[in-house]
Amino acid sequence: MDLESFKVDEIRLWRIKLEYREPFRTSFGVEKCKETIIIGLKSGDYYGYGELVAIREPSYSYETLDTALSIFKEYFIPLVLKKELNPYVFYNETSWIRGHPMAKAAFEMALWDLHAKYLEKPLYEVIGGSRKKVEVGVSIGIQDSVDRLIRRIEEYLEEGYRRIKIKIKPGWDFEVLEKVRREFPDIPLTADANAAYTKEDIPRLTNIDKYNLLYLEQPLYYWDIYYHSILQRKISTPICLDESLQNSLVTEAAIKMGATKIINLKPGRVGGIIESLHINEIGLKNNTPMWIGGMLETGIGRSFNVSIATLDNVKYPSDISESRRYYMKDIITEEWIMENGFMEPRKEAGIGVEIDWRYFYKKVLKEWVFR
Ligand SMILES: [Mg+2]
Repeated sequence: MDLESFKVDEIRLWRIKLEYREPFRTSFGVEKCKETIIIGLKSGDYYGYGELVAIREPSYSYETLDTALSIFKEYFIPLVLKKELNPYVFYNETSWIRGHPMAKAAFEMALWDLHAKYLEKPLYEVIGGSRKKVEVGVSIGIQDSVDRLIRRIEEYLEEGYRRIKIKIKPGWDFEVLEKVRREFPDIPLTADANAAYTKEDIPRLTNIDKYNLLYLEQPLYYWDIYYHSILQRKISTPICLDESLQNSLVTEAAIKMGATKIINLKPGRVGGIIESLHINEIGLKNNTPMWIGGMLETGIGRSFNVSIATLDNVKYPSDISESRRYYMKDIITEEWIMENGFMEPRKEAGIGVEIDWRYFYKKVLKEWVFR
C-alpha cells in the first residue's frame, strides 16, 4: 500500500446535533437525535474528516461522546498535531491504549481521508476495495405494531433495498417473524436482537430456524462468544455477531469457536480501517463472509462505510441506507442515494463528499480548534 506521511497543522472538533426524521427504537432504547463529533484535520491545502460513532449514553458500548472527547484531547491531539504521520503510525502509536475503539476509529478515519486526498485517489481504491458498487439493505427499528412494520417493509422493498432486517427482543420476536414471513415468504430477511436475550433463552431461540432467516444477529450478551457457540450448534440459522466482535482478534476467536458464521463489521466498533482490513483478511481465510453495519452515521461516516463495503469479503447487503432515510437533510452537499439497491463509492479523492458548511454550522453545539 502506498503510504504517504503528512503533517497535520490544525485539528478541529465539532460537536453537532441533527434531528432524525423519526426516532429509532432498538432493544436498548430510543434515539431521537444524532449527537456526534466530527473531526477535521488540515494539512497544507488538504482537509480530512472523520466521524465518531459513539452516542451520548453508554448503551450500545461503554464509549460515549464525552469519553471520546477526553481521549481526543488528552492523547490523540498531542500525538497528531504538528507531527509527520499516516494512519499506520497512528494505529501503532495508539495500540497501547486499551479499549476506546470508537475514539480511535474516528481519528484514524480522518487520517485515512487526508491520506487518500494526498494520493489524489478515492479512499476505496486506497484501501484495496474491489467492488464498484455496494449492495444495500435496511434495518427497521421496533415499531408500534406489526401492521406498521409490514407497511414499512413494503415501502423499503419498493425503494429497492436488497435485504430487510428487523429488530427483535423478548415479547417482539417470533409472533412478529411469523406474521412478516406470512406476508413476505421469500424476501431476504434477518433479525437483530442487539443482545436482548440470555442463555436461559437458548431453548426458545431454537425456534428461529422456522423463519428461514439469512442470519440471526447478536442474540446473546454483548461480550459473549461462548454461549453463542452453544446456540449455533443447536440451530441451522447462521449467527452473525455484531457487538461481541470488538476487534480482529476477538473476531478470529469467535469464528474458530463456531460462535459466528457471518461478520457484521462496524469499522467504528473495531477501532478503524486498519482493524477492518485485518478482519476482511481473517474472514476470507476462514470462509466467513461479512457485511458492513451502520450506526446511523451522517454523510461523512456513511462515506467510510461505503468505501469499506467495497472490500472483497463483503458478500451480504450492508446497512448503509440513503441519507434521507434518517435525516431531513444531511450535512453533506450531495446526499447518499441508492439506485436499484446499490450505492456507489464516490470517484473524487478521499471520501469524496463535501460538507454543506452553512447548514453544518447551524447544527454545531460547540467547536474546538487546536493549532
Ligand atoms: Mg446489530
